[in-house]
Amino acid sequence: MTKTYAFETLQVHAGAKPDPATGARQVPIYQTTAYVFRDADHAAALFNLQEVGYIYSRLTNPTVAVLQERIATLEGGVGAVCCSSGHAAQIMALFPLMAPGRNVVASTRLYGGTLQQFSNTIRKFGWSAKFVDFDDLAAVEAAIDDDTRAVFCESIANPGGYITDLDAVAAITDKAGLPLIVDNTSATPWLCRPFEHGATLVVHSTTKYLTGNGTVTGGAVVDSGKFDWSASGKFPALSEPEPAYHGLKFHEALGPMAFTFYGIAVGLRDLGMTMNPQGAHYTLMGIETLSLRMERHVANARKVAAWLEADPRIETVTYAGLPSSPYYHRVARICPRGAGALFTFAIKGGYDACVKLVNSLELFSHVANLGDTRSLVIHPASTTHRQLSPEQLAKAGAGANVVRLSIGIEDADDLIADLDQALARATA
Ligand SMILES: *Cc1c(COP(=O)(O)O)cnc(C)c1O
Repeated sequence: MTKTYAFETLQVHAGAKPDPATGARQVPIYQTTAYVFRDADHAAALFNLQEVGYIYSRLTNPTVAVLQERIATLEGGVGAVCCSSGHAAQIMALFPLMAPGRNVVASTRLYGGTLQQFSNTIRKFGWSAKFVDFDDLAAVEAAIDDDTRAVFCESIANPGGYITDLDAVAAITDKAGLPLIVDNTSATPWLCRPFEHGATLVVHSTTKYLTGNGTVTGGAVVDSGKFDWSASGKFPALSEPEPAYHGLKFHEALGPMAFTFYGIAVGLRDLGMTMNPQGAHYTLMGIETLSLRMERHVANARKVAAWLEADPRIETVTYAGLPSSPYYHRVARICPRGAGALFTFAIKGGYDACVKLVNSLELFSHVANLGDTRSLVIHPASTTHRQLSPEQLAKAGAGANVVRLSIGIEDADDLIADLDQALARATA
């Protein structure tokens, strides 16, 4: 599959061809843990990474491999590693880069679970995160020190309404000789292509829009293939001999595929955060309609956000697709097809009114998820973001009177009518 096809064609075909064994047109679910070696020499070559092939499904599986190639192609990267969840993908992205004592400079505007993972859990590995407002470019630059090994942000940031100036951040990471990791979950490659703005790696929670229907958790790490892992000596996992593979130097031996191979051959082998073939199947089915769904998600989000903004019961709507947003001017450059379908609004009445609103909605489901065909609602301060301090809440754009919507692909007027009746009850 060449990359001259349009996105809409690639989302259906990339990575897949009729099954060589049966001619099956849809990608078969290879529900197997192991693969028979042709002979002892074949097995040895596979284990030495001298030949690419299937050994054991903790590392690779043909169904998952199709999804990896499809996501890599849609992002314009050279390779991808699929993982069991978006959070697994984040660890898998950092794992080859980090070591005890090293840090990642991260945006304050991140998915609540990521703030948690980076604030607390990664410390158990001896890693740490330094959180910075990514609109303050001088602060991003100042936060980078000799122990920094990556810079991390979201393209369209959860809980919505914020778009990172990826070009400006990439200029800083380029100068510092560091990889820029962009979580592109909320945008998807249909709306934003981080590699075209200088990102080194893209991570996804495929749980969200890529699968699109709320069925399976999954994640992916995609490599642009453009970073020189040997230049600075800061990434010995990729540039220095790996004892477990007879002293193989991943970057020297595998060039632009070094990060992806390391992710599979060491990351999945030893951390085991593997995506299963059933999960990959659901996500492949979802990706086939990605552009169609995203177009509708964005059109609905624009309509609902504009209606909310005009309503006197609403304090603010933070949707970057509204001309009133301070980030509106970034849409055309960073995500030209639209600002996504995730945004927050603040209602007059505060915490209690938000809880009443969530309880009164009928069409919107109250769930801790986003990027479903169904419209979803959550009150971050009482759920996903409840572990955060008031300062962290404010920095994450998730104050007490803020409700987050993930706009689905239903009829926009039905969604507006549901919000209207629920607002009436919440503010009565
Ligand atoms: C959901 C989400 C994650 C975490 O993904 P899981 O699949 O739930 O582990 C990370 N980043 C963003 C932006 C998300 O929306």
